[in-house]
Amino acid sequence: MVADKAADSSQENTEKMDVLTSTRAVVKDALERLGYPNELYELLKDSLRMLTVRIPVRMDDGSIKVFTGYRAQHNDAVGPTKGGVRFHPDVTEKEVNALAIWMSLKAGIVDLPYGGGKGGIICDPREMSFRELEGLSRGYVRAISQIVGPTKDIPAPDVFTNSQIMAWMMDEYSRIDEFNNPGFITGKPIVLGGSHGRESATAKGVTICIEEAAKKRGFEIKGARVVVQGFGNAGSFLAKFLHEAGAKVIGISDAYGALHDPDGLDIDYLLDRRDSFGTVTKLFDKTITNEDLLELDCDILVPAAVQNQITEHNAHNIKANIVVEAANGPTTMDATKILTDRGILLVPDVLASAGGVTVSYFEWVQNNQGYYWPEDEIEEKLYKAMIKAFNAIYNTAETRGIDMRLAAYMVGVRKMAEASRYRGWI
Ligand code: GLU
Repeated sequence: MVADKAADSSQENTEKMDVLTSTRAVVKDALERLGYPNELYELLKDSLRMLTVRIPVRMDDGSIKVFTGYRAQHNDAVGPTKGGVRFHPDVTEKEVNALAIWMSLKAGIVDLPYGGGKGGIICDPREMSFRELEGLSRGYVRAISQIVGPTKDIPAPDVFTNSQIMAWMMDEYSRIDEFNNPGFITGKPIVLGGSHGRESATAKGVTICIEEAAKKRGFEIKGARVVVQGFGNAGSFLAKFLHEAGAKVIGISDAYGALHDPDGLDIDYLLDRRDSFGTVTKLFDKTITNEDLLELDCDILVPAAVQNQITEHNAHNIKANIVVEAANGPTTMDATKILTDRGILLVPDVLASAGGVTVSYFEWVQNNQGYYWPEDEIEEKLYKAMIKAFNAIYNTAETRGIDMRLAAYMVGVRKMAEASRYRGWI
């Protein structure tokens, strides 16, 4: 009996931590509040297409290893689907599906002419050579080539993928197409048609959200104590921007541990010493855990690593005034409620991390027109898009008396809902 109860509660916990189930619940709530019929929820609760591929790669020791990958296309009523490809050992089909839904929401929030897509490959790039990674990247493109393309579905970087991987993918796709096709993928190196500002775009967008959220709470970034979980693309650029803006970055972390200094960490040194996967804490003897890092006394907490970091178990101990989600899905829905009830302002992932896909859109537009913009133009356009989105969501949350996550879903789902209706899909 006791054992059964334990099994029940562990199943309940797994469900709560299951990002797809929790995302669907918020989508449903958002659609109901907007007055849409249940048919629309039935349409949007899953990706329209989900392709599973198996990719054989010759490894350096001569053996062949077969990797499993996915590409999800959530909804293309508004336009082609768009979203990154992650290389990670924990990738699952369910996660890729949820991430594709989030991409649809992000596109709606910053008003891009896209639906959401997402890809993932189950692998550990930290343990693969450059040559093996190239083989895997090219094999993935060959496997998904029939369903992707500049007017169908446009991939981009995500966890543990970067501009080099985008370059190999773009080259492979161009070979299949038999002409140079930079608009197939974004996040490319600048010399291959990448956009200025794309690499730091997610962090720029998060910084803009932090500035706006701090204003609402009556303080400035200058002098604020900040904790950033994760030192990958988003986390490292973010620590840099906040440090440059005069914030005191008192905590950072990677997958192996965290560093804390109440007087502020030497960010320039850490940026200099991090490896390409964002690992830096291994160089230090005195570290704390990622769990302790989240509970540090600070003004601004930015989870910029992976899913399910702030849960019902630690949400009561978070001391920050503002939590801004730079990662996808770092806070569970239970924890969102606890933080909101405690008066902590939570800026959700689908808004805070939308800067990446926004500049990806600029990259795609530049590729399509063959005319490239200077960095200041990109920055100005990104700034305007993020401010507009932040205010629309903040005001929706205030007027409706709801948290910013639900407000973001309401704002994000609207265009896709209308487009699906006009097309006669519901
Ligand atoms: N992977 C990023 C995200 O989750 C960027 C996607 C893109 O640039 O298309 O938003």
